[in-house]
Amino acid sequence: MISQDTLQKLIAIVGAKNAITDVHDMQAYMEERRDLWPGKSPLVLRPSCTNEVSQILALCHETGTAVVPQSGNTGLVGGQVPTGQEILLSLDRMTKIIEVDAADYTITVEAGVILKSVQTAADAVDRLFPLSLASEGSCRIGGNLSSNAGGLNVLAYGNARDLCLGLEVVLADGRIWNGLKKLRKDNTGYYLRDLFIGAEGTLGIITAAVLKLYPRPRRYDTAFIAVPSPQAAVDLLALVKAESGNRVVAFELMPQIGMDFTVKHMGVTHPIQTPSPWFVLTELADATADSFEQILELAMERGLVTDASLAQSEAQRQALWAIRELMPESQKHEGGSIKHDVSVPVSHIPKFIEEGAAAVQRFMPSARLMCFGHMGDGNMHFNVTQPVGMHKQEFLDQWHEMNWAVFDVVLKHGGSISAEHGIGQLKRDDMLKIKAPVELDMMRGLKALLDPKGILNPGKVLPSA
Ligand code: ZN
Repeated sequence: MISQDTLQKLIAIVGAKNAITDVHDMQAYMEERRDLWPGKSPLVLRPSCTNEVSQILALCHETGTAVVPQSGNTGLVGGQVPTGQEILLSLDRMTKIIEVDAADYTITVEAGVILKSVQTAADAVDRLFPLSLASEGSCRIGGNLSSNAGGLNVLAYGNARDLCLGLEVVLADGRIWNGLKKLRKDNTGYYLRDLFIGAEGTLGIITAAVLKLYPRPRRYDTAFIAVPSPQAAVDLLALVKAESGNRVVAFELMPQIGMDFTVKHMGVTHPIQTPSPWFVLTELADATADSFEQILELAMERGLVTDASLAQSEAQRQALWAIRELMPESQKHEGGSIKHDVSVPVSHIPKFIEEGAAAVQRFMPSARLMCFGHMGDGNMHFNVTQPVGMHKQEFLDQWHEMNWAVFDVVLKHGGSISAEHGIGQLKRDDMLKIKAPVELDMMRGLKALLDPKGILNPGKVLPSA
């Protein structure tokens, strides 16, 4: 139990109007969108600056008070949810864009800046911040970095880690590490920055970051394409990369059942009349005006493509993207779904899908596989929708067994059981089964060094010591 005295001292750091103790008022910080982990905490603190975060952690360190950092509360593995005995530290008031530097292609922001705001600030100086994902209107950059977010453009620009140059971090004992450098090259000892990215707030709290910007593309070519098989999609990706001069910035694979759900429940129009078992949404940036059509003709001659719909305007481009973005939501209308955010080498995707589908079928013959996602990165959301007529909870009770039916196939192909969503609470015990002892030893050693009292997001990623 956290003492009343400690709670009062913590509240004094941010001021009473930036502290929440009422259960109803803190609801938005406690509920997460998957409805799997009900959050519980005696106190939500909303500091305004790094200095206040530092004071909070110093006091928490002294008193052995556990802290869960949270930014946009859009995480999908329960990493941002307190379990009862931790205070919640929200970064949602730290929303300053500190500097946009067009000449150096960087932007420096506080951790609570919403991803969309970073994109907009870059756009205003004719630059691109390429991190893009479904929750970009509400997720915040501190969470994007802490979970090493992926999203739609990883195959061209990398994930959040690749887009970060420097960090400011408050350590478990309250000390501030100012690593806000804009350097592309810096070989001066251990690369500490990368320890905090993807650590889900278990090693330190990211309070600000220097992010990379890119030239803003002048032209996009976007197409919705019917392909006969995942193998055809893999071959198509290789063809488009080669023939366009590597201009592919997105390459998403979607199954027929995903299109059926999305058309039925989300009010979108199917852009292609020809029936097809699989579809691809791909986008090229700054390709030459006629090259994309020529590439698609070549792909048709080779039997990789059966039909295609090209966006003729920005509005049409947005309409094609809306289909992909609404697809996860469409699943909710078909009952429960058991999710797998997994990756394998791109060339293994066809075999992985075939063997993974067979494993799901063996486990539950009438389950409906809806496998879609970022095929260009080898990252599939290998989701399974419940059988028609089955009780939702009865289906969800088999989450773990279903996971392992799929994970065994993932591991056989040299893949990862968490491609872009992280470990949090959801995959912690699965991770423990998979990582080699030497790897877990290094992780525990880092945790013990940087958070000796185990106060930072305890029980997430690693079990509490
Ligand atoms: Zn995704």
